[in-house]
Amino acid sequence: MSYYEYMDGDGFPSKVLIDDHGQVKSEYPDAHGKTSIGAYDVVPLIDEYVRKHPDFSSRGSKGPVAMTGYNGVRGYRTSKSEYPKSKTMAKDTETATQVADAMKANGWVFASHSWGHIDMGKTPMPRFARDMKLWDAEVRPIIGDTDQLIYPFGADIARVERYGAPGTTRSGRTDSTSSTGSTEPRPPGSRRAIPTCARPASTSTDCNSPRKGAGTGRC
Ligand SMILES: [Zn+2]
Repeated sequence: MSYYEYMDGDGFPSKVLIDDHGQVKSEYPDAHGKTSIGAYDVVPLIDEYVRKHPDFSSRGSKGPVAMTGYNGVRGYRTSKSEYPKSKTMAKDTETATQVADAMKANGWVFASHSWGHIDMGKTPMPRFARDMKLWDAEVRPIIGDTDQLIYPFGADIARVERYGAPGTTRSGRTDSTSSTGSTEPRPPGSRRAIPTCARPASTSTDCNSPRKGAGTGRC
């Protein structure tokens, strides 16, 4: 839901905004250039569903949304390093922050997805550090603090442990000390949730375009 530049013209919304009723919606330009405001992506779709069926969600909780930063946030080109000549930077940043606040107030939480959608298992440390600083400078002020990270490409920096019942991991560690830091026990045979873009870049259909200066792919 970062609405990257490469998504333009491919049938995706162009941004997320707050409509006249104070609800988070998508702005969707169709193939003929006509723009509509409505529920055209997962956030407003789930918001609408939970409004009709509040029992679907415990205490209104919605889910984590992982954000990169190299093309800005939620369709707003808020990256000062990528768009240094933007004349709408201040307004875009303000609007993106209002959207993020509205989403958080409505049960969504945010996670880092790195600034440049980098493969953290392969990225040299200087670039890794630069990426983290960019995320802190350009994304955190908009979405707020978070203690969650969803690895781009599902490329954990540590190995992925064998799935199984608590106490049965190969390392002898219990699931409560898994590499993701999860403290939730999982029932026998269950699988860890697969994050968006968990496929390797070479086979991914949405993370497949090497890009100068940013991530090794996009998602
Ligand atoms: Zn991704």
